[in-house]
Amino acid sequence: MVRSVAIITISDSCFKDNSKDTSGPILLEIINKKFPEANIHSIIVPDEKEIIERELKYFSRSNIDLVLTTGGTGLSPRDVTPEATKAVIQREVPAIPVAMTMSSLQKTPMAMLSRAVAGIRDKTLIINFPGSKKAVVECYDVVSSVLSHAITLINNELEEVRNVHDKMQSNHVCPHNKVSNVDISKVALRPRESPFPMLEMPEAFNIVDAVMLQWVEGIEILPLYECIGRVVAQDLISKEPMPPFPASVKDGYACLSYDGAGVRTVRAAVTAGETPATPLATGECARVNTGAPIPLGADCVVQVEDTKLIKASEDHQTELEVEILVAPQPHQDVRPIGQDIPSGSLIVKKGDVISAAQIGILAGAGYKEVPVLTYPKVGVMSTGNELQEPTDSNLRPSHIRDSNRTMLKALLNEHGYSSVDCGIARDEPGELARALAAALARVDLLVCTGGVSMGERDLLKPVLINDFNATIHFGRVRMKPGKPSTFATCQVRGKTKFIFALPGNPVSAYVCGQLFAVRALRACTRRTGGFARMGVRLERAHRLDPRPEYARAQLQFPALDELPVATMLGNQCSSRLLSACGASVLLELPGATEDVKELAAGTIVPALIIGRIDNLSTL
Ligand code: AMP
Ligand code: MG
Repeated sequence: MVRSVAIITISDSCFKDNSKDTSGPILLEIINKKFPEANIHSIIVPDEKEIIERELKYFSRSNIDLVLTTGGTGLSPRDVTPEATKAVIQREVPAIPVAMTMSSLQKTPMAMLSRAVAGIRDKTLIINFPGSKKAVVECYDVVSSVLSHAITLINNELEEVRNVHDKMQSNHVCPHNKVSNVDISKVALRPRESPFPMLEMPEAFNIVDAVMLQWVEGIEILPLYECIGRVVAQDLISKEPMPPFPASVKDGYACLSYDGAGVRTVRAAVTAGETPATPLATGECARVNTGAPIPLGADCVVQVEDTKLIKASEDHQTELEVEILVAPQPHQDVRPIGQDIPSGSLIVKKGDVISAAQIGILAGAGYKEVPVLTYPKVGVMSTGNELQEPTDSNLRPSHIRDSNRTMLKALLNEHGYSSVDCGIARDEPGELARALAAALARVDLLVCTGGVSMGERDLLKPVLINDFNATIHFGRVRMKPGKPSTFATCQVRGKTKFIFALPGNPVSAYVCGQLFAVRALRACTRRTGGFARMGVRLERAHRLDPRPEYARAQLQFPALDELPVATMLGNQCSSRLLSACGASVLLELPGATEDVKELAAGTIVPALIIGRIDNLSTL
């Protein structure tokens, strides 16, 4: 058990430039959450070897279980944290920095430049973390699962060591054998208040964005047609010019502009797709249609409307002479080679999200497949003893059909993400642990619903914590619907798994599925998590809830210079999914205050665009 932790932020800039921008507060927040019972110390010192040594010795003398340093592990002359640490530790634990480096190297080669050290002085475990905020979060995630056990071992707490070993023996890697450490037999002992702090929405979004940075994308090559909405992994260059030959822009006659106006002999006819057989000479022209190649010798096209037929064959099958009524300009109505896209030019930039227009350009340039960034594998799971498959023909007494799973799969699909169906898990610790283990073995990001509130069978959070050693980044958010929304990560075979455990009420699942799961996927696949926001006017007065509310609404567009009017979709209670049908925006309504309890009709409120914007009045 970790009873006391010291965080030492090592940073010259805090002293020289008075900078407050360090990784210390993030580490402090993580440790506070992970070990809420522990005594936590946090200090900031400059990059001075003697001072760092002095503080490490001080905390070890004070019997602090765990000292985490952040900063000063790099290559600059002032980076001396590893030297100070080596000078004080009595036994090194080299595999800890090795594990951190191995994991960080998957994300950035810069990890090679960290010289972090870990070791033990007396009964204190000391670990160096790098100084960047992102690296601290990542490195902590790598070591988090062994910290408690390491400290138990250092302190020779035999009983506890045996317990952990027993647990590990029973926790086979195989998901089918997984058992749970959660005991639900003593219902009277369950907490009556949620132990999770209530976060404000912006805080929750920041956490999701920061944690999703841990997603490490790969590259896959997909057939062109499947690339819509995907992020291109490398610059794509045109391999051929477009057009590949000088092409006519009009239906008319290819001529020599130098000949001016007047009568021409019609020498040939070229339609699109044919190659002109003979070059033109002065006084000649060739009949061409749009997209046809211009014969050699010609330098312009005169549209058919600016010509007059002078002479035709007797059977009218051949034009022999035409008069050019308006003297043409050189290059008139000719698209030269490469006018649209020159050969070798950049047609799609690395990082672009491929649109239908770009698919057209790539198809035109002969690309059959495209390297794109991989998406996380997403899974959708429902939890609840009352749930039946939606396809079951008979509904058993006291049961309901599982609508969330199908709805969430469709919602993800709407945003371009396919998902794996991870079924229904019952509200039994062992069954839930097995279902989660099986799901997490298959996917990178799991969206599940149900079981996150305060009910005696709401087991998601305890099972994640006790059976998966998960970090719960948040377990309660001040929002309506969706207060018990939970976001967690855990490690499975060295990979970070992301879990959004959403409340089971269908509207909560829908709204939180958008605001958390879809947003997180957008953040790590398109680098633009947030939805676009616009101002809209409330059609009717609305009584505010104490919590900020996300109300489903449709829009009506009155006139070009007026804001759209938002119509809420009926009773907004969280079990009534009809209130989300046809919603194109979520209105961000503030929580009620002493002064403002209601918003009048016509009030301008922000609206998040979550769906296709259709004009309500034309529906
Ligand atoms: P819970 O979040 O598990 O407390 O569930 C809250 C409410 O949502 C209960 O009325 C559940 O029956 C309902 N519910 C939970 N999961 C689903 C689901 N997958 N489909 C439809 N309703 C559900
Ligand atoms: Mg439930």
